[in-house]
Amino acid sequence: MTGGLGYIGSHACVALAQKAIPFVIVDNLANSSLGVIDRLAELVGYRPPFVEGDIRDGDLLVETMERHAIGAVMHFAGSKAVGESVAMPLDYYVNNVAGSLTLFAAMVRTGVKTLIFSSSATIYAQTNAMPLAEHAALGASNPYGRTKLFVEQILFDLSVSDPAWSIACLRYFNPVGAHPSGLIGESPRGTPNNLVPYIAQVAVGRREYLSVFGGDYETEDGTGVRDYVHVLDVAEGHVMALDYLRRHAGCVAVNLGTGRGMSVLDMLHEYERASGRSIAYEVTGRRPGDVARCWAQVSLARDLFGWQATREVEQMCQDSWRWQLANPDGYA
Ligand code: NAD
Ligand code: UDP
Repeated sequence: MTGGLGYIGSHACVALAQKAIPFVIVDNLANSSLGVIDRLAELVGYRPPFVEGDIRDGDLLVETMERHAIGAVMHFAGSKAVGESVAMPLDYYVNNVAGSLTLFAAMVRTGVKTLIFSSSATIYAQTNAMPLAEHAALGASNPYGRTKLFVEQILFDLSVSDPAWSIACLRYFNPVGAHPSGLIGESPRGTPNNLVPYIAQVAVGRREYLSVFGGDYETEDGTGVRDYVHVLDVAEGHVMALDYLRRHAGCVAVNLGTGRGMSVLDMLHEYERASGRSIAYEVTGRRPGDVARCWAQVSLARDLFGWQATREVEQMCQDSWRWQLANPDGYA
């Protein structure tokens, strides 16, 4: 598993351990900390094998895959901040595209041809037609999104070139929440870019108020609507996708979402209920590049993997709050 110490990867570790599926983590700690391993050990009952290293180091990947007799790869590693990708496009293309290419080449060298790739709803072209089905038009509007789109296209080409590949590109909508133990969760460095971590930091007193980006969208309350999905549901989706890939060749792109949209203010009020605290906010201008509404059509994940999100927004906020309260400064 690449990027296994990160937010989604660490939850995937727990989901794999729950099914007694062995795994090895490769992570360069660019956006994570070694403390995650201690937390994982506490959760799963053993210290998961960890290799500190970079996905751009092909020899290290080959050596790791051979030593551990790897049969499949979950590829979470990458950089994910949209604004940063606009400021530093080359860094994003190098880490997300070149890094992925190095990984795929290492998989070819070792004959490992089963892969799950972390894609994103951000690769859909802007449209008002909801829900977004997997066959909807694609078109990313920033370098981060383009890295995801390019890698998906590379993977489709790869699967055409060699029918032995089994690949799932999982297009996450808005993963939020944390493991209910409060031991692992999202630990953003610096100012959070995403809504729920920001709300959590206001609730816990680290920030004064939430800036609501736009109150004049064509939505029920004027604020942006998104498909928030519990990170544990997303993690379990990977385990179910892996099971599917063991039985099916080819390359599929599949949404992971709940199929329901929640506005920024819906989310804020839900978080107030979960935390028992009032959360100050101020409506400001729209954030460039944001769409009004975005939610998933979710039938393909159900049809192919037998997966559907099971956790409600109430639990997303409760679990996020438990993690935030127990770890006000994240892993730091
Ligand atoms: P994260 O930053 O928490 O985790 C990514 C992990 O990859 C980190 O532990 C980081 O240290 C590691 N990493 C980065 N570059 C690396 C490299 N070159 N070599 C080895 N390790 C490297 O991010 P996340 O939220 O867990 O997201 C995981 C994946 O899912 C990313 O590819 C992201 O783009 C994608 N995704 C995330 C979201 C979201 O909202 N969190 C939504 C859609 C897609
Ligand atoms: N948002 C907001 N204030 C923030 C962060 C986000 O109002 O500080 C809004 C944002 O405009 C969008 C929603 O919350 O409507 C979800 O944003 P996020 O960045 O979490 O996810 P994405 O934009 O990738 O869907």
